[in-house]
Amino acid sequence: MNAFLPVMLNFFMSLIILFIAIKVYNIYRRKYLLWFVFALFLIPLLFLYSLIEILYLSKISPYAIVAYPAIIIVVEIATIMAQKNLFSSLKTEEAEEYKLLLREDIALIRAFEKIANYFIGRISTLIGIKNIEDVLEECIESYPILTGCYIGMDEKLKTRAMEENIGEIKEENMERLCEAFSYLLTKLIDLYAAFVPYREIVEGVEKEISKIEGKIIKYFIPFVLFKIVLEPFLRECKSDELKSLRLAIDIKGIYINRKGGIEYHKIYRYDVAAREKKFVKFLERMLTVLGKKGELEKNITEIFRKLPNNVKEEIYRYEFIKKLPRGILDEEKIVLMSKEKLIEELIDRKKKLEEAYARLAEAKLDKMKSNFVDIIAHEIKTPLTSIKTYTDLIRKGKLGRINKLQKEKLDKVAKNIDRLTKLIDDMLQIPSIDSKELELRKEIFYVKDIINKILDDIDEMAKEKKQKIEVNVEKQLTIFGDKNLIEKAIKNIVTNAIKYTPEGGKIFITANNEGSYAHISIKDTGKGIEKDDIEKIFEPFYSKEGGIGLGLAIAKNVVESHGGKIWVESVVGKGSNFHILLRREK
Ligand code: ADP
Repeated sequence: MNAFLPVMLNFFMSLIILFIAIKVYNIYRRKYLLWFVFALFLIPLLFLYSLIEILYLSKISPYAIVAYPAIIIVVEIATIMAQKNLFSSLKTEEAEEYKLLLREDIALIRAFEKIANYFIGRISTLIGIKNIEDVLEECIESYPILTGCYIGMDEKLKTRAMEENIGEIKEENMERLCEAFSYLLTKLIDLYAAFVPYREIVEGVEKEISKIEGKIIKYFIPFVLFKIVLEPFLRECKSDELKSLRLAIDIKGIYINRKGGIEYHKIYRYDVAAREKKFVKFLERMLTVLGKKGELEKNITEIFRKLPNNVKEEIYRYEFIKKLPRGILDEEKIVLMSKEKLIEELIDRKKKLEEAYARLAEAKLDKMKSNFVDIIAHEIKTPLTSIKTYTDLIRKGKLGRINKLQKEKLDKVAKNIDRLTKLIDDMLQIPSIDSKELELRKEIFYVKDIINKILDDIDEMAKEKKQKIEVNVEKQLTIFGDKNLIEKAIKNIVTNAIKYTPEGGKIFITANNEGSYAHISIKDTGKGIEKDDIEKIFEPFYSKEGGIGLGLAIAKNVVESHGGKIWVESVVGKGSNFHILLRREK
């Protein structure tokens, strides 16, 4: 009987524990708590059983004794289940927490919370937490979006309840959130600045800002620009300077208070471009009022350069610095510009490459063209030779008499056959000249000889156009090469000079010794060649004047197969100067 009281005591105590467990479950409704409640529910039963055992020991069957260890086993199992559930629930909650952090709005709230707490922690030791609570209340009144924020027992701002209230925040709400928090931060900084020099405040908060993640740093740019970059200067102003500044800076969304604190939170009501404009305007006016010989610009530049990297990256990326007034971050602007130049140059090169590619494709086509021409020319030449032979026979009366008119007409036919043959010979010269054959035909000859021959040939043509040809050729100057081909090449150029120079123009032919080369130049006072055409005129079949376009192609082919060089200098409207370099000796 002595055992009755302690058993009853134990029974009631375990009932109380069970009651508390059920209460806790009701609040949190977690599965693992349910297992705990179940385990705890069995414990009073255990004591009840003990009581029965004590009271009716003799009457219960010996088998009923098993009930005791059986209940213990069930309790153990229920506890194990509860623990297992607890662990897995902890894990999923972690995952949920992580998911929350991925959300930009939550990250933003937490970042603001951290910075606010940085200030609250410092101010509360100076003026007590009550004042801070008042400030928070005022902020919530002005910005209901902050509803749910409170200062916890640990004297820290808590925003968790807010997170649950807001769900997913839309873009425009992000701006409202920034506005609300910026307002709170401005108030906190004002409180803190009453006790601590502003520059010190800036240094501390800069460290906090440097920890903010990249994806939300953009929302803190106004804070950095106004509170970190500019406000230090305002806080140090004399009262009359501050007065003129407050008058001068009349920009919607920004306000300077009597202590020199910038209240910038309303700037979030504008888009990013407008915000930037407002900041630049603010800065310009500030420089007008406070600026002294670039000193201020230099100091502001210094502050910009010392900003945390995450902020700097953001500012640089948006090319915002290019809009800053002169004297601020000038070097950085140059770097940015040269980057742009580089890109421009790349684009330019790409264009040139594309052009070159197109030309290459054209050149390939040209090669096909010249192979084709080669075959056709040969095919035409054979029948042409027999036509010529028979025409000559008939013309000379060897196949019977012909009258005068017939002879006249046949002379014309013969002349045209000659022209055609010459043209075909020209065409055949375009494909590469056989170098072995060329070697055999090479000889040393005087330049003056071929020039004189050319002059004889074209004399009439020049006279017809009333052109004067001035010749200045070194007497002893020689060339080593195929005399006929080289004469042809030079003649083509001289003929062009006459063709493309108006009546009464002048042509100068000079030839000088230049080291191991003879330098021949044919200059005219003609119409000149356009820049775009200069490279093309040496290509076969390129003619702007409705000609065949082979003259220069042949000249180039001849000169280059002799290992020489040919090029032209030309000014449109003034004239052209063709140059040829050819080896003097073997
Ligand atoms: P063609 O005279 O049959 O047109 P060319 O190969 O001799 O062919 O010349 C190619 C082009 O180069 C000409 O159509 C002409 O536009 C230009 N050209 C050549 N020589 C001169 C020159 N001395 N002055 C101006 N343009 C020239």
